[in-house]
Amino acid sequence: MPKITILDGARTIGGSKIHLQTEGVGILLDFGMNYKRWGEFYAEFLGPRSTRGINDLLLLGILPPLKGVYRDDVFPGDFNKNSFLQIELQVDAVFLTHAHKDHCQHIGLLRDDIPIYCSPLTATIMKAMQDTGGSGLFDEMVYFARRTQSEENGILQSEKNRKIGKQVFILGEKNDAVDEFWLRSPYAEKHRFEMRPLSLVEENKINDIEFRYFPVDHSIPGATAFAFLTDYGWIVYTGDLRLHGRKGYLTDKFIEEVSSLQPLALIIEGTHLEEEKSKRTSEKEVYNKCLEVVKNAEGKLVVADFAPRNIERLISFLHIARETNRKLCILTNDIYLLEVFDSVEGTNYLQEENLAIFEKVKDTRDNWEKKLKERHGGKFVKHSEIRENPGDYILCLSFFDINHMTDIICKEGGIYIYSSSEAYEEEQIFDFVRLKNWLDFLNLKPVGFTIEENSKNPIFPEGYHSSGHATKEDLFEIVRRIRPKYLIPVHTELEKPYEELRDITQIIWDDAKYTDLEVKIYGK
Ligand SMILES: [Zn+2]
Repeated sequence: MPKITILDGARTIGGSKIHLQTEGVGILLDFGMNYKRWGEFYAEFLGPRSTRGINDLLLLGILPPLKGVYRDDVFPGDFNKNSFLQIELQVDAVFLTHAHKDHCQHIGLLRDDIPIYCSPLTATIMKAMQDTGGSGLFDEMVYFARRTQSEENGILQSEKNRKIGKQVFILGEKNDAVDEFWLRSPYAEKHRFEMRPLSLVEENKINDIEFRYFPVDHSIPGATAFAFLTDYGWIVYTGDLRLHGRKGYLTDKFIEEVSSLQPLALIIEGTHLEEEKSKRTSEKEVYNKCLEVVKNAEGKLVVADFAPRNIERLISFLHIARETNRKLCILTNDIYLLEVFDSVEGTNYLQEENLAIFEKVKDTRDNWEKKLKERHGGKFVKHSEIRENPGDYILCLSFFDINHMTDIICKEGGIYIYSSSEAYEEEQIFDFVRLKNWLDFLNLKPVGFTIEENSKNPIFPEGYHSSGHATKEDLFEIVRRIRPKYLIPVHTELEKPYEELRDITQIIWDDAKYTDLEVKIYGK
């Protein structure tokens, strides 16, 4: 009988870690970071000590105490595995729905003989994030540095100048450009970069278990849903999805195909269940609204702030820039990502004439950035050029890069379009107050958010952001159309999500054992 274990991410948004055991095969579905739990202990200047490997994350309950699943080299020698690692699971593979950190961040900590299955975009976006991001233990995803233990003080140290690649199976197609990018080292020559080539899946099977994968629409490209055939029927996992995005038809097709499988169980996200009337703003509406703002800002600088890796939004702004005779000026990380997107999707965004790269004023450059400059040197734009011709640009940066704007103070002012998700956490709310202070100082008018005078809370008018998650109405519609025998809600903070649908499906909120399915839920 199949057994589903929700290790994390049941009654919280993010931290998705699900396990499926069936007929001698064990599969992990996502292995992301639990931002909420992390934030209960850590802050900007207080993080886990990587010299103690995963000791701290296990003790604090940020990682589940799994036996035999993590890499051996990330445990400090004095960690008592036998008494602490209480959950014993078989893991033959990890399937990733998409490259958002709350779904994939911790896969680097898994045993390196556990293969990763994901779409070509999920694999390459993860590598791009790792190439251009931090290189600490908790940034490792598709390649890692082996840790060794120092005899005298038990400190874990990473092997210098060597990275080892994980085995990644691609669900879909790949081409030479993707293979080349995958094996390309972001480091200097002396660094040994031992990537394993990407593998293609020959048959949709893990041992003897058949699976299917379905591209779905979400706010990051490459999102995929999965279905696994057990002796008692299909078990389906949605990951994150929406119906109202540009590629909503993919989600629609997934629903259609999966409903014909008459699944035994559907594990489904519920991010927007709480909102009474969640916003259904489409990407097209965002485009139109932002286009209007840019048109009305002739001669002035426009700054656009949207989430990293939201390539769809980047492309919307690229079109807006073209329409308004401006250059879209983006940061090197975003160019790196767009390059990856072009090679996987066969698009040519990087060749667009109105695409430019913002040259940050800084001392040193990482090797990947130096190489990028060799490839696209002609596209770099300095702050002085933007300051002199502010009306020629849409500059894409977020709050965390706003300090670079002190080099581009424009007398005539400008517009700052906030085109990203609303703030929920206290710290995020305070960041908006800081952002507003910056914008006042820089003479940039905020669009897409305002600060309420009395409460000092940010307010987000509709139309400047399209969410990556289905609305409550759409989620209900998905369940009604698929009609699974059992419904297992995850990725929501509600106590009893989907309660209204209990007439059409058996909803599992707690540990349960039936004749055809067993469910165990941790971290409720
Ligand atoms: Zn997501």
